[in-house]
Amino acid sequence: MSVELYKADVTYVQAEQVRQLGDGIPAAAIGSLLIAVITGGLLTQLNIAAPITVMLWGGLLAATQFIRLFLWAVYRRTPNTFPLKRWHGLMRAGVLLAGCAWGALPLFLLPGDLSRLAIPAFVIAGVTGAALAGLGSDRWSVLLFCVPAILPLIVRLMLERTDVGMMTAALVSLYLGYLALAGRRSERSFRGTLALREQVSQQNAALNQAQQVSQVGSFEWHPLSGELIWSEEHFRLWGLLPNAVVPNFELFRQPIHTDDLIQLDHALKTAMNEKTPFDISYRITWPDGSVHNMHSRGEFIYSDHGEPIKLTGTVQNITAQVAAEQALIAARDEAERANQAKSEFLSSMSHELRTPMNAILGFGQLLEFDDALSVDHKDNVREILKAGHHLLQLINDVLDLAKIESGHIDLSLEPVEVCPVVDECLRLVATMADKRDVQISHNGLTGAVVRADRTRLKQALLNLLSNGIKYNRQGGSVQLHVALAGTDRLRIQITDTGAGIPAARLDELFEPFNRLDAENSGIEGTGIGLTITRRIVELMGGTVAVRSEVGVGSCFWIELPLDSISATAQDEAGIGDSTVLIQPRESKKHLVLYIEDNPANLKLVAQILGRHSNIHLLTAHTPELGIELACSRHPDLILLDINLPGMDGYQVLEVLKADLFVKDIPVLAITANAMPRDIERGKGAGFVEYLTKPLEVAQFDRLVDQLLGANKSSSGD
Ligand code: ADP
Repeated sequence: MSVELYKADVTYVQAEQVRQLGDGIPAAAIGSLLIAVITGGLLTQLNIAAPITVMLWGGLLAATQFIRLFLWAVYRRTPNTFPLKRWHGLMRAGVLLAGCAWGALPLFLLPGDLSRLAIPAFVIAGVTGAALAGLGSDRWSVLLFCVPAILPLIVRLMLERTDVGMMTAALVSLYLGYLALAGRRSERSFRGTLALREQVSQQNAALNQAQQVSQVGSFEWHPLSGELIWSEEHFRLWGLLPNAVVPNFELFRQPIHTDDLIQLDHALKTAMNEKTPFDISYRITWPDGSVHNMHSRGEFIYSDHGEPIKLTGTVQNITAQVAAEQALIAARDEAERANQAKSEFLSSMSHELRTPMNAILGFGQLLEFDDALSVDHKDNVREILKAGHHLLQLINDVLDLAKIESGHIDLSLEPVEVCPVVDECLRLVATMADKRDVQISHNGLTGAVVRADRTRLKQALLNLLSNGIKYNRQGGSVQLHVALAGTDRLRIQITDTGAGIPAARLDELFEPFNRLDAENSGIEGTGIGLTITRRIVELMGGTVAVRSEVGVGSCFWIELPLDSISATAQDEAGIGDSTVLIQPRESKKHLVLYIEDNPANLKLVAQILGRHSNIHLLTAHTPELGIELACSRHPDLILLDINLPGMDGYQVLEVLKADLFVKDIPVLAITANAMPRDIERGKGAGFVEYLTKPLEVAQFDRLVDQLLGANKSSSGD
């Protein structure tokens, strides 16, 4: 920005002019008095003027100088005595008086010899020339001094009426003109300097303000001289008042945390040696003992010879950010702890609720097979079982939903081929469909692979399929159709021929526990299945939708991200398989060992297996006894509980697998730990199967038969 474009503030200029005029007074007074004394001496010695004349003039000059000195003293002590404008006027008046005193000098000299005027002329020229230096800030002051000081000399010269006098008068007039011009130029340059100074100080103020707002300080360090320069904010960042002390390298280092100093020194050294910028955070302790976090950046500037001559950089107070980050980390840790606690609660709830359900449903199922019971009692048992199953379903669903809601569900999204999953689901619902005489068919695309969690996809499909069967009419049908939805999604659609759902109630379908009045229909359900289905499908990046027509049926569909379609994929596959294969039981006697500490569970399994004439059951109520029996009796199958006293089931399994003679015996886990991660862990640990309580008697029978059939190394009892 050029000086012309930037004008200093008028008041500021006036204040500076007054200050300059005032500050120039002592030197001017002393100078004037000295010159007056010497001039007076000369004039007297050379008999140019009478001593009395000289003294008169000297008194006049001294009086004016004392008036000015008095003005200056008042101005220095009480600058507010007068307004600025008045001070300006008074200072100028003082200058005028001083000019007049000098101008009076030639008037005191007698006319006659022109050469008499040479000394005063010389002195006045010198004094007015010198006045430029002190009065240059104000051209009016220059004029007010020079005109009265020089004009009488000109008049006096002209009064000589000689050619030399006239010519000298003309010369002195020219000199006065020159002084007037020089005064003007001097004031202009003074104003320019002021403007520049004001501009710089305003820019500095803006920079300081910006640094204060952003809490960023700047510094400059000269390694050769050791000089350190801090911006105002840098002082504040060090807990000091701006410019209260002269900064030095020790003042900079001293409050830095000792642990961080080593790091800082290393960063500075690396930056200096490798000629790279540095970027480092450290803690400092203020004089009041509070600790603050700083972030500093900077780089060295090098001489032509590659020597570091200056380090410039910034320091920022990042205490608030660090505190926020720490609060965030603490909140995350707290949330993780809470999550963990919730997870443990869910896991123990699942275990605690399932253990008694195992006894209720297990013994209930045994009673069902008891021929000694009357028809009424059998009916009662069936009611107990029905309610028990319903309660179990409710427990499972509520725990599952709680898990999903709390984000505790671990999905392992991977490519899953849809057809095998669909077939598996169809097999699982086949019995249910048979019971209601509902025909199930599967058609559409085969060979499609989606990105999903296999277990959860199965869960979603089973829910939709079982609803399609449950809410169907007797003799109705359910059709499962697989098709592409656009280019990157696959749709699995389940259409039934049930009563349908009124359009106005479709929105309620996915509300937890809302059964849309189905609770009065005698159809079993909890009202959470669709809520869970929707949540898990959405977690897999898919959607669930429905359309329905009352009296015609409903169509629910799932859309999932498509992973790939195999080259042999074909449309319109055949009808799904609806038969579940049951392995025939072997007629040999097999030895089965059951390790379980809960007497009710022991009794239940003993009674279930007691119905198998070819099985002999050994039981052990402690893990140690179980291991001993396994090694000594070498059973065909080991049933192992997980929650055992002293050693858990995994540790027992480890011992068994380490034994050369029993390591091949299949071990079946039977446990109330039914969380998916428990099941996963169990399968991974080496159990041949992982059954969760309450036991499904038919499924248990089937599995035991399968395992005993597979294990040919039977031993008789
Ligand atoms: P549940 O079947 O355990 O009651 P869901 O969440 O699976 O719970 O379903 C909620 C409600 O939606 C059911 O109670 C039923 O009234 C209705 N519904 C679900 N599927 C169908 C269907 N295919 N046809 C008719 N109604 C259905």
